[in-house]
Amino acid sequence: MSYEPKRADFSVPVRINLYSDTQTRPSRAMKEAMLAAEVGDEQGGSDPTVWELCDRAAALLGKEAAMFMPSGTMCNQVAVATHCRPGDEILAHEDAHIQGSEGGAPGAISGVMIHGLQGPHGTFSAETVRDAIRPVSRYSPPQRLLEVEQTTNKGGGACWRVGELEAVAGVAHEHGMNVHMDGARVVNAAVSLGVPLSDVVAACDTVMLDFTKGLGAPLGAVLAGPKDFIGQAWRWKQRLGGSMRQGGMNAAACIYALQHNVARLAEDHANAAALARGMAQIPGITVETPETNLVFFDTRVSGLTAAEFARRLRPMGVTISVSAAYRGRACTHLDISADQIVEALAIMRHVLDD
Ligand SMILES: *Cc1c(COP(=O)(O)O)cnc(C)c1O
Repeated sequence: MSYEPKRADFSVPVRINLYSDTQTRPSRAMKEAMLAAEVGDEQGGSDPTVWELCDRAAALLGKEAAMFMPSGTMCNQVAVATHCRPGDEILAHEDAHIQGSEGGAPGAISGVMIHGLQGPHGTFSAETVRDAIRPVSRYSPPQRLLEVEQTTNKGGGACWRVGELEAVAGVAHEHGMNVHMDGARVVNAAVSLGVPLSDVVAACDTVMLDFTKGLGAPLGAVLAGPKDFIGQAWRWKQRLGGSMRQGGMNAAACIYALQHNVARLAEDHANAAALARGMAQIPGITVETPETNLVFFDTRVSGLTAAEFARRLRPMGVTISVSAAYRGRACTHLDISADQIVEALAIMRHVLDD
């Protein structure tokens, strides 16, 4: 078994990349901002552009401090390691990214266990959290952290409402737990809900915001929270090799993304809605109504697996991702136009007619 990714087939160009918003390319203007960046030694504290990004991100998120790291995964895992001790338990949705998509890091790095909660679209209720609270005793693992995902990835890009977050965080805090938000797409949620980012994350003690999803930067995420917490988190960032040198070039791309790529996420959401409406008209496909930029669909009625559907789309220049035998995902982002949605729908129809 090799864990190396399979090399893409570069001989057939991808024209309409609905695979993921992670595959957005930095624009020319973003690259120019990177070239113009003032840089220093990030881990030594002398990169002014990284400091500028951290200050901006902390202000936007309404937190005291923020720390820049190469990836959202590293931010989540540094957060888990800083909040928890070995033997602690985290409450998170059973489909959470930290549970199923981060290589077992909570166990491997922090020695913690995850208690999976159930609920619709990757969310869960305050009642569900309350039911998961264990009595404090020497038999129970200490319950240290509640984790929420905004937007929910496997839950279909659904947004937690501010009131829902206040309710689940309220239960957690009442029982002495902290709350971390995996905000890989938290900016999509803020735009979709029409609520300032700081309000969307207010109920959470710490939050990760990723710049490499819909925001279109090539690298980087921030972890934000109380000043003391970020001070502690720096040791884990160092331990995991997340301290950088001339990080300012990457931070400049993230600053550019905050300045230019936030409001336009509404276009991605409109394109996702159009894609979902169109796919719902295609015989054999059942579509979940998207709230943001992720469109999940079911291919069972067509008789094709999601992988076979994806395999047939690929030579036509369209990519999608597969999340289960009959469940696929199409994702809109800044490299996808409204015209390309129309074209993708025609291609989907064509491959299913065959
Ligand atoms: C992409 C993603 C991550 C991880 O982010 P990377 O920057 O790819 O490491 C974490 N959580 C969710 C919900 C994601 O979608």
